Amino acid sequence: MPLIALRQLLDSAAAGGYGVGAFNVNNMEQIQAIMEAARETQSPVIVQASRGARTYTNDRFLFHLMAAAAELYPEIPVVLHQDHGNSPETCISAIELGFTSVMMDGSLLEDGKTPADFEHNVRVTREVVDYAHARGVSVEGELGTLGGIEDGVGSGEVHLTDPDQAVEFVARTGIDALAVAIGTSHGAYKFSRPPDGEVLSMNLIEEIHSRLPDTHLVMHGSSSVPKDLVDAINEYGGEMQPTWGVPIEEIQQGIRHGVRKINVDTDLRLAMTGAIRKVLTETPDEFDPRSYLKPAREAMQGVVAERMRQFGQAWHAPELEPKPLREMQALYA
Ligand SMILES: [Zn+2]
Repeated sequence: MPLIALRQLLDSAAAGGYGVGAFNVNNMEQIQAIMEAARETQSPVIVQASRGARTYTNDRFLFHLMAAAAELYPEIPVVLHQDHGNSPETCISAIELGFTSVMMDGSLLEDGKTPADFEHNVRVTREVVDYAHARGVSVEGELGTLGGIEDGVGSGEVHLTDPDQAVEFVARTGIDALAVAIGTSHGAYKFSRPPDGEVLSMNLIEEIHSRLPDTHLVMHGSSSVPKDLVDAINEYGGEMQPTWGVPIEEIQQGIRHGVRKINVDTDLRLAMTGAIRKVLTETPDEFDPRSYLKPAREAMQGVVAERMRQFGQAWHAPELEPKPLREMQALYA
């Protein structure tokens, strides 16, 4: 199946009332884990790569690995998404490479650290939308900033999304999806206690959705950081501190109010690392990388498949009739 645009998938998710996990990849095993989970649950899927991932993998490797995924899983609709593009140049290079969706994160300046002003955000995002839509590619923007830092992205400051600004931002940029800041943060250490209404503003999602019913909302930093995954690391020599992520029920509440894309990275890292630590601790004489990469891949597949069921995307792959990008291009025009 050809890669499809984010817009097509999220429109379908909105019609079906479900959310779609966007899972980060850096190597072959992670791509395989996601594709196997998608096949197991018959899910359409968003595979995303950050700038750090593109550097680590090398663009050409990433391109061919994704081409292999599309070839080997013809029944699975796949969106290839640039996570946290820091500039129009990054987004344009992703589109040239074959990405079918890009995030222009203009909430931060090009350094990926300094909070940007509203006008800067509108200007760079609009520039990317004009370029992307002319090629049938979708665009996610971000308004407000999350806490935490991941892959070097983040200011460490939290600015919740302002609903009035969100309406103006969407009108002036023409984005397909909007990442909102509601108190979540990137990385494993999101909350030092179970998050309640004071740290996680789910009502903000409801308000933004009621004002922008046709804009797909995106939750970043939405790993749940389950205790068993952290415990599995610590049981085999890890030293992670107690931490809490975003409870699945909160994400599901978001999905009932317009959240269509849910970014998950940390949970996948935890699952792989726990599995690798277990093998290396229990069989210290082992030295074949396959002996720990295979269990790591299986552990990641398990978490991805579980999220696919929890977000509701499971069993929706067969409904999607892939639209070629030139058809999306005509729709955007
Ligand atoms: Zn993010």
